[in-house]
Amino acid sequence: MRFTVAIDGPAAAGKGTISRGLAKRFGFAHLDTGLLYRATGRKVLETGLGPEAAALAVGPDDLARVGLRTQAVAELASQVAAIPEVRAALVAFQRDFARRDGGAVLDGRDIGTVICPEAEAKLFVTASAEVRAQRRYDELRLSGQAADFAGVLDEVLKRDARDTGRADAPMRAAEDAVLVDTSEMDIDAALKAAISVVKNRLEGHSA
Ligand code: C5P
Repeated sequence: MRFTVAIDGPAAAGKGTISRGLAKRFGFAHLDTGLLYRATGRKVLETGLGPEAAALAVGPDDLARVGLRTQAVAELASQVAAIPEVRAALVAFQRDFARRDGGAVLDGRDIGTVICPEAEAKLFVTASAEVRAQRRYDELRLSGQAADFAGVLDEVLKRDARDTGRADAPMRAAEDAVLVDTSEMDIDAALKAAISVVKNRLEGHSA
């Protein structure tokens, strides 16, 4: 069976948790596409390759490396993600993953709009910038890292502006995406809402 769930939205809105929860619930494979951009940014820094060559060289092993989830790598990722050649170099990997047998969940910024406009289910998961910054701040504090709220909020706003303002594949909800605003929802409620959307689409789906 081929069945693609496309999940887009800004950082710290809950897309990762929802995507993993959906993949587990329905037995689908999951690809966090942000890791592709993170691995590309890091490869540029480590190898001196140009951004396009780095994106073409990224493979599954690069996605499994530790240290990709830091703020510094996120910043690099969002810079290389604005380069059209980098985005083009990463399309085939994502589309192949999306159409694998057994179902797939992909989360990112442009999955429902550019990578998989034909996805059987689409969600746009969002939350206010303040709520997302607070979540990030709590995570950093919990993991023992120094952080100040104003700085985290500033970083969230900057990355949002870059991701929504770029000319190529800007972050936006697909017209047929179901909007899930997690500002005042806990993760169980958000996951329940997402599960019900996917269930609904699966019921009408064959092949
Ligand atoms: O989702 P994550 O925070 O890991 O993404 C890091 C950066 O990669 C984002 O800020 C965005 O610039 C870029 N990205 C993208 N398209 C995707 C996934 C991530 O442009 N599908």
